[in-house]
Amino acid sequence: MKTVKEAQDIILKNVSALGTEKVRITGALGRILAEKVFANRDHPPFDSSAMDGYAVRFEDVKGATRGNPAALEIIDDIKAGGEPKRSVEKGVASRIMTGAPVPKGADTVVRVEDTDSSKDKVKVLVPPRKGSNIRPMGENLKAGDLLLDEGDELGPAHIGTLAMVKKKEVMVYRRPRVAVLSTGDELEGIDEPLDPKKIPDANSYTVMAELESLGAEPVLLGIARDTREALEEKLREGLKYDALVISGGVAVGQYDFVRPVLKDLKIDIRFWRVALRPGHPFAFGTGEKNVIFALPGNPVSTMVCCEEFIVPAVRKMMGAKRLFRRTIKAGLKEKVKDKKGRTHFMRALLEGSPSGYSARLPGEQGSGILMSMVKADGLLIVPQESEELKENAVVTVQVGFGFPFQEEPNLPEEKSVEDE
Ligand code: AMP
Ligand code: MG
Repeated sequence: MKTVKEAQDIILKNVSALGTEKVRITGALGRILAEKVFANRDHPPFDSSAMDGYAVRFEDVKGATRGNPAALEIIDDIKAGGEPKRSVEKGVASRIMTGAPVPKGADTVVRVEDTDSSKDKVKVLVPPRKGSNIRPMGENLKAGDLLLDEGDELGPAHIGTLAMVKKKEVMVYRRPRVAVLSTGDELEGIDEPLDPKKIPDANSYTVMAELESLGAEPVLLGIARDTREALEEKLREGLKYDALVISGGVAVGQYDFVRPVLKDLKIDIRFWRVALRPGHPFAFGTGEKNVIFALPGNPVSTMVCCEEFIVPAVRKMMGAKRLFRRTIKAGLKEKVKDKKGRTHFMRALLEGSPSGYSARLPGEQGSGILMSMVKADGLLIVPQESEELKENAVVTVQVGFGFPFQEEPNLPEEKSVEDE
């Protein structure tokens, strides 16, 4: 039986980034860059004003006070998007707006709030520091700088940066198309009328949502009944995609036909069974051009196998460099008993505190209790050889799928401020 790490290693050896494609930046959020992006020019492209105010020579205003202001003649009016018509000589100032180019001769911008002005005269009441309120050319980006690298995940700031260098299209890795199949005679499709003797197919939707949240393209195949023929037909269909995720039918039951039928279809089952709880009958196989994940059908097992095996695999196929869910340390709020032999992924609740996170269990941990995943903020990883985690022990919690927003913004203490 493989350890979780051994199983992940085998899976990752058998997947690689798919092809690349060009996309518009409006559709690039969450995609992984397949090229390097350099700055095509300096940004800002010229020294620009950071404030609405007056462009001046520091020499002319350095001694100004409210009692003894420096009076300057206004010789120009420079808008954002405009151009200075005159340079700033001794005794004069140009009115300037935020983002407008600083005129020749000026080395400082005085903000409007620190002046008193008429149509063509300005009195500087408060001396700025030399060079104040000027954004130097290239402060944000320097021409030729490497801005974004191959393998970077595109978030809002990345997308804005692409726009800054006028890159409307970028090369990204293709999204994997992943077929999703549920198996079981007991299962009832979401559109079928409710039958008290049947179990609603939840796993198809959990798996599709996992794939969607990763940026893959799930394709719903529906439910295969527990016969070799029914399964074979659906599996053949599923093998047309980059990957196939099957839930149920992979254990040792009389009607668990997933592995034998995969073998009939010439799929090489690389391993079956992993030392994890829940989810240990997990199997992984490779076809000619695709990979197959066979997940045990209990809803929590299905989801834990998604988190541990499908997340890193899909991320690698998408070209990402960081493949795994993040783990954090937390202080355990209660004693946790466990059985030896398997790495246990327990549903955990997290709470922030001044000394970091603390973790506790949301209650029942059965592999059929999907509500434990609904409640959970993450998965508490109980090591294979651990029989007990003591209260206050520092534990590892894997977060990602459920790491929640919070009710309060938790800003530092703030007071309302009167307008100046
Ligand atoms: P299996 O892995 O096929 O032995 O299924 C184990 C348990 O998971 C059974 O109790 C099934 O009813 C349940 N199960 C299997 N597939 C699904 C599914 N798609 N949705 C919800 N529960 C399922
Ligand atoms: Mg079954």
